[in-house]
Amino acid sequence: MKATLAPSSLISLPRHKVSSLRSPSLLLQSQRPSSALMTTTTASRGSVAVTAAATSSFEALREGIAEFYNETSGLWEEIWGDHMHHGFYDPDSSVQLSDSGHREAQIRMIEESLRFAGVTEEEKKIKRVVDVGCGIGGSSRYIASKFGAECIGITLSPVQAKRANDLAAAQSLSHKVSFQVADALEQPFEDGIFDLVWSMESGEHMPDKAKFVKELVRVAAPGGRIIIVTWCHRNLSPGEEALQPWEQNLLDRICKTFYLPAWCSTSDYVDLLQSLSLQDIKCADWSENVAPFWPAVIRTALTWKGLVSLLRSGMKSIKGALTMPLMIEGYKKGVIKFGIITCQKPL
Ligand code: SAH
Repeated sequence: MKATLAPSSLISLPRHKVSSLRSPSLLLQSQRPSSALMTTTTASRGSVAVTAAATSSFEALREGIAEFYNETSGLWEEIWGDHMHHGFYDPDSSVQLSDSGHREAQIRMIEESLRFAGVTEEEKKIKRVVDVGCGIGGSSRYIASKFGAECIGITLSPVQAKRANDLAAAQSLSHKVSFQVADALEQPFEDGIFDLVWSMESGEHMPDKAKFVKELVRVAAPGGRIIIVTWCHRNLSPGEEALQPWEQNLLDRICKTFYLPAWCSTSDYVDLLQSLSLQDIKCADWSENVAPFWPAVIRTALTWKGLVSLLRSGMKSIKGALTMPLMIEGYKKGVIKFGIITCQKPL
């Protein structure tokens, strides 16, 4: 896989937006070649330009992501099932949920996302779906069954792609859904073929958000819907150039373990979609709706079964578990936002 990041594919952003996208945390610190520090991204005449050094670091990031999910997906599935995303809960719900309650909350996240985007139960137009960053295919199988649609999922992890295909076969869904290893920034699809472009908690891994969004738009059919549900940092206030150093520091620590490049805000996504003349652009902050999720994941990790599985799974999983409290801190302090951004491609 080779990512070409031609400057022509990059989208101009207002100056104050550039800073959040060109933060040094664009690349994982542990993987960042020292010379890339200064050359990772350079803002020139209001556009974000990506250099050759950044391109090679993108390769390292991709490898890191693939290895991370190769190692951790089995553990996650064993404890949490086939959805590798937050649950959606009623705000202020103080009831202690059972494991099945959390799994229902993960399904609810899919349902709420579809509803927010205006994709309804009666939707007959959803015939082809792409699941960008598909994990082990939980969303694909759910959406394919719900709409009777064909769904193709892409992931960087060969282990995930295989497991997703095996689960589809076990559920007699192989004629409807399939999974392959491919890069969201260079999708192996023709232009304009998907009625629904679905990205559930994969956007935070993308080192070039402009290219990511452009690819989602490219593969969407005319009139097709795009749904991005993703981890963001808070919107910057007018006149604010960047996050506070302590905020950036918190995000950097999360980036290292979860293989994330620089974060952006929901308004950065909205600006990108507006610059591409998309229609019906909507976004929402669901941080309150996901608040019970990470405490629940930590509780399961601290059970006997959780601890044994964690130790068996390896260092990446253990580091991931140790980083979970930082996610809770980030939400509590308002630095991390759980965002949904949707739009429609013009006919
Ligand atoms: N959407 C899934 C999985 C979320 S985990 C779910 O809700 O269950 C994040 C996923 O994003 C992983 O499958 C990872 O491989 C994928 N991903 C991250 N960067 C990617 C990229 N550049 N191209 C394709 N997939 C990517």
